[in-house]
Amino acid sequence: MREIGAAIGTFARARWGLRFLDRDHLLQWQQRRIEHFLRDHLRRASFYRDFGGARLDQLPIVDKPAVLADFAAFNTCGISLDRAVDIALAAEWDRNFRPTLDGLTVGLSSGTSGTRGVFIVNAEERQRWAGLVLARLLTTASLRQIAQPWRPALRIAFFLRANSNLYETVASRRLQFAFHDLTEPLGGHVQRLNGASPHVLVAPPTVLRSLAAAALGGELRIAPAQVVSVAEVIEPDDRVEIERAFGVPLQEVYQATEGFLGVSCPAGRLHLNEEFLHIEPEWLDGEHRRFRPIVTDFTRTSQLVVRYRLDDVLRDAEGPCTCGRVTRSLDAVEGRSDDVLWWPSRIDRAPRQVFPDTVRRAMVLVSASVRDYRIEQRGQAWHVRIDADSADADSAQRAARREIEGLCSGLGLEPPVLRFEPWIEPPPLEKRRRIRCVDRPIAAEARA
Ligand SMILES: [Zn+2]
Repeated sequence: MREIGAAIGTFARARWGLRFLDRDHLLQWQQRRIEHFLRDHLRRASFYRDFGGARLDQLPIVDKPAVLADFAAFNTCGISLDRAVDIALAAEWDRNFRPTLDGLTVGLSSGTSGTRGVFIVNAEERQRWAGLVLARLLTTASLRQIAQPWRPALRIAFFLRANSNLYETVASRRLQFAFHDLTEPLGGHVQRLNGASPHVLVAPPTVLRSLAAAALGGELRIAPAQVVSVAEVIEPDDRVEIERAFGVPLQEVYQATEGFLGVSCPAGRLHLNEEFLHIEPEWLDGEHRRFRPIVTDFTRTSQLVVRYRLDDVLRDAEGPCTCGRVTRSLDAVEGRSDDVLWWPSRIDRAPRQVFPDTVRRAMVLVSASVRDYRIEQRGQAWHVRIDADSADADSAQRAARREIEGLCSGLGLEPPVLRFEPWIEPPPLEKRRRIRCVDRPIAAEARA
């Protein structure tokens, strides 16, 4: 009962409470919450035993490898990494997603770089998470449907690589939650969706793009009121197709193993959840546009997330958002830090960063016949694969060369070395990353 209370309480606070007059008020309020958190909870995890009385900025910055190397020291339940992974894997193996261990949930994230994330949440945190996601995500019309008992329950279809009872928490009588397992073929999902007619459709953008094609082709006949992208970077061409197919603006959730980090607003920006998280920007460029977030979750007490540096590159939006929220807003989650390419400057030959969204914008201009592409930096060359009709392949390559060279020239860089390779279909379950730096050029390692 206490847990249900946590869900409703968080929901109400996130939806109607926690409104701040301006950013200063938010930051002052946040500061008090952080002080309480540090005083009451920090030293319960053995990693922080000697940090009594320390301010947040005096605590060490940690990252995923550091936490995985000493997992038990970062949680307050005394659970080792081996034990946590065993339980999560056993659940994944029989697709039985109720791996509770003394009321705790263990989840595994599908890490894109090979290191899997592991997280523990307790029952109350799980409910709070559910309340927060719903409060932030659902439109007033969707909430009204939940609240009006004479109308059908709100149906949410959720596509995931792995389920977790974290997500099943959201289910209730007024809310029906259908889990779609991405390891199953798309045809079955289309049939199930046609049967269920979900009001809210939640999936990674690559899956939404396939569903959009099925909808435009007439096989998928659903009219969701909300379409939500999760788990991957949204490519501009996917956004256009998804919005065209379903006729509603695409919403975005920014969620990582480390928590529910942000959600898009009606004005189209992505707001960070600063009412629950403290997020320090670690700036990546001189103009302070792009940063890696250093996250402190001052509401989570089972596994501590304190000054935890994520691998993501976020692009800060300029000025306050017209939606009225005072939380920091982003233009985009651009990708991971190893999605950043490097190329030498014309002036001093020193390698400079080429951020993935600038490459994406250049590639959008290439040709309408380009269905997909991959650009990988391997040392001193960028390897490009383009999926286009064979009749247009040569002209697509020429256009790609022109756009990428134009981009580099505009950034004051030397002309890039491009190697075109034949297109290969990526494995269906792989998280999509169109732009990746597989190997940095040697000089970039030294200077970065
Ligand atoms: Zn906004």
